[in-house]
Amino acid sequence: MNIIRGYVFRLYPNLEQQELIEKSFGCSRFIYNYFLNKYPNFINAYKCCNELKDLLNEYEWLKEVDSCLLRNSIFNLDNAFKRYNETIGNKPKFKSKNKSRKSYKTNNIISSYKGKTYNSIKIDLNKNIIILPKLKEIKIRGYRNLSEIKGNIKSATIYKEANKYYVSITVEDIIEVPKFIPTKIVGIDLGIKDLIVTSDGIVKENKKVIEKYEKKIKGLNRWLSRSKLGSKNKNKVKIKLGRTYQKLKNARKYLIHLISKEIVSENDIIVTEKLKIKEMVKGQLSKKIYDASWAELIRELEYKSKWRNKKFYQIDTYYPSSQICSRCGYQNKKVKDLRIRKWECPNCLNLNERDLSASINIMFEGLKLYMKNGLELQVK
Ligand SMILES: [Zn+2]
Repeated sequence: MNIIRGYVFRLYPNLEQQELIEKSFGCSRFIYNYFLNKYPNFINAYKCCNELKDLLNEYEWLKEVDSCLLRNSIFNLDNAFKRYNETIGNKPKFKSKNKSRKSYKTNNIISSYKGKTYNSIKIDLNKNIIILPKLKEIKIRGYRNLSEIKGNIKSATIYKEANKYYVSITVEDIIEVPKFIPTKIVGIDLGIKDLIVTSDGIVKENKKVIEKYEKKIKGLNRWLSRSKLGSKNKNKVKIKLGRTYQKLKNARKYLIHLISKEIVSENDIIVTEKLKIKEMVKGQLSKKIYDASWAELIRELEYKSKWRNKKFYQIDTYYPSSQICSRCGYQNKKVKDLRIRKWECPNCLNLNERDLSASINIMFEGLKLYMKNGLELQVK
């Protein structure tokens, strides 16, 4: 099976390289804005790529940067329009020079000459360097325990966040998929009190991660809103704030990675609900983090299941997982209120713990889906 992997490295460009990277950000933004201005409602990416030739003659400085990134900028805009038309994204907006995150994407071009193959992007983890088009060798850091990257590099996105440079690599690899032998199934409730509760009774939370950074972010925001601060100081606080957000994001992502890895390696059939809006999560920041964490968890469970040949199911949002007694199946509409954490079943007197019962119900719903699927396969 073909899979796509991603790696992120910190980049340490020298001054000359920094200059070229900044120029590349600028050119990427210029192309994006140019075509958005010319075609405000829809673009034909291939037609725009053809127009690039004339543009390069008109604006000579565009020739200084890697030409791949110009085309990628067009496809990026095309994607933004597509997302907007499918109502998953906002209408494309002009990119501002002052955006805190800047990026451009380039592709690995493989060519051969006299029987030898050449890649425009190369990485050497022993020497800790990456070779990027036009930039040549740049020092990198990250993944201390990794000695080589398996598979073919497809593309690299160079970006700057909180005044630091990074490169994100996508690699295509082929993996052997293990045989599917179902022995264990798990249901996962996307909790309110906790991040998740599984039908095995395992609880995972990310409160500690949030609390650690929430205070810091609040404090920095308060600082920032004080108008007395000089612009130099203000900038410093802004950078600090950006770094704190980034640390929070990394910590959250790492936690989700560990959780999803554990769930997928220990189970064969994994069932969860589709994402729904949980109004109970208090505070703007916490809510954002919870939403992002669940979305990331589902994404990771899905692809990790695929890679390891496990089954992953998501049951419908309208299934009232937390109103059903996990012992007898009685639906108790009186417990709709999310504040009710425990309830006794009027039918069988079982004491239902809200999130645990929900995860057990989710597991059974998933089992039904699996059985249905299995039967359909047999009929064929
Ligand atoms: Zn019951």
